[in-house]
Amino acid sequence: MTEHEHEEIEHERIEHRVVLRTDVAPDDATLVDDFTPELVDVGAHHLCPGCGEPIAIRSAVESIAELGAIERTISVFGIGCYTAFSNNLDVEVLQALHGRAPSLATGVKRMRPDALVLTVQGDGDMVNEGLQEVLHAAARGERITCVLLNNGVFGETGGHITSTTVLGQRTKNTLDGRDAERDGHPILISDLVASMGGAAYVARGAVNDAGNVARTRRMLTAAFECQERGDGFSFVEILTMCPTGWFVDTHDAPDYLADVIAGTHQVGVVKDTRGEAAS
Ligand code: SF4
Repeated sequence: MTEHEHEEIEHERIEHRVVLRTDVAPDDATLVDDFTPELVDVGAHHLCPGCGEPIAIRSAVESIAELGAIERTISVFGIGCYTAFSNNLDVEVLQALHGRAPSLATGVKRMRPDALVLTVQGDGDMVNEGLQEVLHAAARGERITCVLLNNGVFGETGGHITSTTVLGQRTKNTLDGRDAERDGHPILISDLVASMGGAAYVARGAVNDAGNVARTRRMLTAAFECQERGDGFSFVEILTMCPTGWFVDTHDAPDYLADVIAGTHQVGVVKDTRGEAAS
């Protein structure tokens, strides 16, 4: 296919886009033609079909727009497939080294206290490579929001298991599934972060169905509002599909998330001290 033909197809995809709104309750959700969040400059992306990360990113930008914080949002991205969205979003994006996004965001927030500061990281980036960074930021009660896109796999670099991969879960290079004796147990990162004294709001959402997408969107808004009030550190973990890394059929990935992953990483609000002074 020539480059011109490829551009034509991309253009057609954008022109005929039909999307499901996520800013209303699932029962009220309707299909809306050509509905593009304010902060999305380019709708087309190059992530795998069925990947959950675009839905999570979209939910975050919708919440930012809803709060009227577009002009003063500064985001810090880790390393992962989602990094591609730095070219799609009309929002300040800083690129951190592996695992270091919470520390970079801390510096940004301290210099620009009026900014809405969020990090976006994957589980390999945050939990394997930079666990101490997020825990120390939570312990200090930094007024930032850390968003974790958790799919239990190093999707960008070939499908290795991560610290959050659940027992029995298969990945591209662990076809027998995670084994506790050989690979260790999964880290429940939201529960660990919630145990830090400076953590004011911690929640775990998912993007495998419309109900969970709507709930995750409300969690993101709650976390940003927590930051805006200065209550303390806020954290939203979002379970996302990675059919490529999981080695499952694309259309089976949402059910796989519900049946295999969410049984260990349970969706819900883990800690909520909004309105109280975090100490
Ligand atoms: S490898 Fe996984 S996380 Fe990366 S774009 Fe593909 S589906 Fe998404």
